[in-house]
Amino acid sequence: MRKILVIAAAFVAAVYGLWQLSSARSFQLFGELIQRVETDDKVVALTIDDGPSKRYTNEIVALLAQQQVKATFFITGKEAEQNPDEVRLIYQAGHQLGNHSYSHPRMLFMSPSAVVSEIERTDAAIRAAGYQGEILFRPPYGKKLLVLPWYLAQQQRKTIMWDLEPETDPTLAADAQAMANYVIEHTRPGSIVLMHLMYQSRQSSREALPLVIKGLKQRGYRFVIVSELLAMPLQT
Ligand SMILES: [Zn+2]
Repeated sequence: MRKILVIAAAFVAAVYGLWQLSSARSFQLFGELIQRVETDDKVVALTIDDGPSKRYTNEIVALLAQQQVKATFFITGKEAEQNPDEVRLIYQAGHQLGNHSYSHPRMLFMSPSAVVSEIERTDAAIRAAGYQGEILFRPPYGKKLLVLPWYLAQQQRKTIMWDLEPETDPTLAADAQAMANYVIEHTRPGSIVLMHLMYQSRQSSREALPLVIKGLKQRGYRFVIVSELLAMPLQT
């Protein structure tokens, strides 16, 4: 009986450990994981996940144009297929596009063929809309464990995570000003900020966006796309 309990406890600990590992923002088993870039320059990358949606892409792209800011959009293959005009709108405005899987699953215990299909169908949808830039990858929910990092490492493709996600704190998520203040306070040179703006439920995030941009510009930050951030000279 005791032995069974010990084995059960070890099993639970192992599963818990794997789950924690799968969500780690700064570590994975294979390949390169980017959470933030160590640089002395006051640069920050704004990354916008999911979509593109028909309803909000226009509004977001117009807002970024008004602020003269370039961002990186991690989009799903499914939505890219449904809304190719919105994909074009994003990259024609000078923003970078990234692959955020095809159907937004937790890519944790998926078969290798399912992982490959999620990634390749999305690349194909982004290319079909005419985008020619580098396609970065960000896993849905930041989840990855074995197959996904291994596959990306084979392709010499980096996994792009983030160091700031103000929306995960529910008290911040509901309050645009609080969300903006949090991001402005916590951004460091080389930070990657994650925001979700593409769906109706994210009204306060959309309201926070101009506040974030103005506040960070006032502090001397310059907004860059993720590829530019990765090319920054490293901290000395
Ligand atoms: Zn997502």
